[in-house]
Amino acid sequence: MKKFSGSFAVTALVAAMSVSGLSQANVTDKDILDDQKTVEDVVSNGMGPRGQRYSPLDMINTATVKDMRPVWSFSFGGEKQRGQESQPMVKDGVMYVTASYSRVFAVDTKTGDELWEYNARLPDGIMPCCDVINRGVALYEDLVIFGTLDAKIVALDAKTGKVKWKKTVADYKEGYSITAAPMVVDGKLITGVSGGEFGIVGKVEAYDAKTGKILWTRPTVEGHMGYIWKDGKKVENGISGGQPGQTWPGDLWKSGGAATWLGGTYDPDTNSLFIGTGNPAPWNSHMRPGDNLFSSSRLAIDPDTGKIKWHFQTTPHDGWDYDGVNELISFDYQEGGKTVKAAATADRNGFMYVLNRTNGDFIRGFPFVDEITWAKGLDKKGRPIYNDTFRPGNPSAGEDGNKGSVVRAVPAFLGGKNWMPMAYSQQTELFYVPSNEWAMDIWNEPTAYKKGAAYLGAGFTIKPTNEEHIGVLRAMDPKTGKEVWRYKNYSPLWGGALTTAGNLVFIGTPEGYLKGFDAKTGELKYEFNTGSGIVGSPITWKQDGEQFISVVSGWGGAVPLWGGEVAKRVKHLNQGGSVWTFKLPKS
Ligand code: CA
Ligand code: CA
Repeated sequence: MKKFSGSFAVTALVAAMSVSGLSQANVTDKDILDDQKTVEDVVSNGMGPRGQRYSPLDMINTATVKDMRPVWSFSFGGEKQRGQESQPMVKDGVMYVTASYSRVFAVDTKTGDELWEYNARLPDGIMPCCDVINRGVALYEDLVIFGTLDAKIVALDAKTGKVKWKKTVADYKEGYSITAAPMVVDGKLITGVSGGEFGIVGKVEAYDAKTGKILWTRPTVEGHMGYIWKDGKKVENGISGGQPGQTWPGDLWKSGGAATWLGGTYDPDTNSLFIGTGNPAPWNSHMRPGDNLFSSSRLAIDPDTGKIKWHFQTTPHDGWDYDGVNELISFDYQEGGKTVKAAATADRNGFMYVLNRTNGDFIRGFPFVDEITWAKGLDKKGRPIYNDTFRPGNPSAGEDGNKGSVVRAVPAFLGGKNWMPMAYSQQTELFYVPSNEWAMDIWNEPTAYKKGAAYLGAGFTIKPTNEEHIGVLRAMDPKTGKEVWRYKNYSPLWGGALTTAGNLVFIGTPEGYLKGFDAKTGELKYEFNTGSGIVGSPITWKQDGEQFISVVSGWGGAVPLWGGEVAKRVKHLNQGGSVWTFKLPKS
């Protein structure tokens, strides 16, 4: 009798272990590298480390998508309904998703039931520039890792949501914060920092993903030293391209901005992290003659050492807050019988760039918005040909020395495209670019750096360029620079794109709709209103033989805060905070 009950206990224990195994992410480096083709999970930001946001799934396609319907919606709850810019992750029946105010939720993918919630206790003095958003987690082994508004990295137990390790990346009192999803490359947790409007110094750092131990740090303003930690010792790892002051006057490099606020992508072919940098600080460009490296650039960084392999500066001597952070997506194409190892990015400044990802050489560039005033075009090396009429004037040249001449610059500083990631279809070989048509009146003012204070030296008002629309989803051909189709949206687009082998492109709108388009023609095939504006990025995955699509809903982000006349135009939009999950009916 005793023996029997003993064996029963063992059986029960085994059953309990397999149940708990369900909610235990066990994500390996290989899982992350293979993420794009392994359709039953989503374990990287960008649906694969290259950030293509392309899925080979095709059950939901142009013929079937009309029948797609929601299966559950999960509320983030509370009073913290601000912008929701997260991309969910999915592993072994659990969704890991972040929400405003540095929260993380684990949700059962079958039912939408909450498994746990982590709520970061934030200090009063946080200084996020552009809403209290978060863009998602990284998964590694049994950890769920994310960045907080007080500039910490927190690793949680995937099963319980309890803190396993926590590191301070930078001092929030100086204006630093973290909103990007971190990424894991070869066991290293890679993060950037936000704060370019406060005169911080941008940097990229790598931590041991399992323990949180720092491995290297790479500042992104020329003149600042990078370091690597070897056997517990801090060793210099090279200045990477210049002495202090080469492309900066005086001491301005010491508070030079170049925030790495959007994280990046990883290309296994060249073993490179591709990370963008924000505006040079302050915005008033007359205070800092020179190119101001490495601001408004894309950097290729060695993930093992933090060394900058190459840089491509989209807006040298930026005077318009054209942050160069937008994602650089690796892709290959055939030309003249050869495979070109390329990477593309659509910049805030209105130009889209195709680069050689092995060395950063410029292949081609072209406008992806209808109007650009600040530059007449790009030269052979991809450097802008400035139109000096549209650089905001020098305040010290003005009558009272307090305000320079006002110019109408296009695109507005919120960009021809902002953070919202584009997608690349391996099927159509097109990029799907969420873009906006808007202008700004901008002028410069004198300013001085003060720790923890806004450091702009500029004033501005963003304005729509027409009555009908601001947002435009564009299908762009990277080989020709031609726009293949466009879809116009009344409000500015602020959420990411997803494309699938079902010949579909999905995007959310501030009006609340998840919309699906024919990837070849741009024909609208699907729409569903989620009840609040969508400014997050959809994902898709397969479970129990069915294809699912999920997207976070919750209006907010930079537009209502910084959008000037555009903010007035969209002030009727309601806040929210939820994840929606869709699939086809079973029959
Ligand atoms: Ca996967
Ligand atoms: Ca900026």
